[in-house]
Amino acid sequence: MANPKIDQTLASMKLYLGLTALAWLTLAGVSGVIAALLRPGLMMIHPWLADLVVGMIVAAVIAGGVLAGVTAVAAYATGKLPLALLKVAGKTVYRMLPYCLQWGRILGISKERVGQSLVDLMNTISAHYITKVKPSEVMLLTPHCLQLDTCPIKVTRDAFMCKQCGRCCVGGLVGLAKRWGTSLYIATGGTFARLLVKQHRPKVIIAIACERDLVLGMRDVFPILVFGVLNARPYGPCFNTQVDLAKVEHVLAHLLGTGKDNHDSSRIGFTDTQTYSV
Ligand code: SF4
Repeated sequence: MANPKIDQTLASMKLYLGLTALAWLTLAGVSGVIAALLRPGLMMIHPWLADLVVGMIVAAVIAGGVLAGVTAVAAYATGKLPLALLKVAGKTVYRMLPYCLQWGRILGISKERVGQSLVDLMNTISAHYITKVKPSEVMLLTPHCLQLDTCPIKVTRDAFMCKQCGRCCVGGLVGLAKRWGTSLYIATGGTFARLLVKQHRPKVIIAIACERDLVLGMRDVFPILVFGVLNARPYGPCFNTQVDLAKVEHVLAHLLGTGKDNHDSSRIGFTDTQTYSV
């Protein structure tokens, strides 16, 4: 099961950790074959050269194993993670993505599930590093497709212009942002979202998006910590998407304290994801 403190509907981080281990074993196997093939030729040039090249290959394989091990330690840590460990683990997770996707393809696992598992892994590692922050340090960030397509209000200019009419999830997010005192931005696309992050430099982002946008966005802004919450796409991708607002509030409660996390939906203007129809 995925991290219950963030978004437990994601695929579990165990999948990504397993694919990372498979990718490392593949790397070790291929490296061993290359070393065995190169060694006789290098011995003819000079025995030391053969030892040097084989030694470098072995060192690279061991380093890869150590990085994968650090990632697993960060994922299952019980105490607070040091920053150095967070950075090493995060960079390893993102660097392994192409290899994990490749293994996912071989095993018939969709890239969406691999992406979800990566998001769960980074959610978990981030939660181990950071526990409490101030509301002013938190940015709620969501794509424009969450807004009802027929709504004329320019929420991308200022999300708080939303009238909270209850016809889409933007109203609920505005209610959450007001209630918890965080900022809220609605981005027209990935480039604009990255620009917003660069401008405002939040300590923590709670991002709502599809698997692909979450993975790319989280990777691009790292080491700024992003807690990813998956959107729902009942009308297909990028159109009138929705989010379970209780999940978003759950993350807010985790980061800002549990005092306001009573899920009294009526007070913030939403019920749940299923109530929005267009
Ligand atoms: S809640 Fe209503 S006013 Fe706000 S963005 Fe959605 S449709 Fe527009």
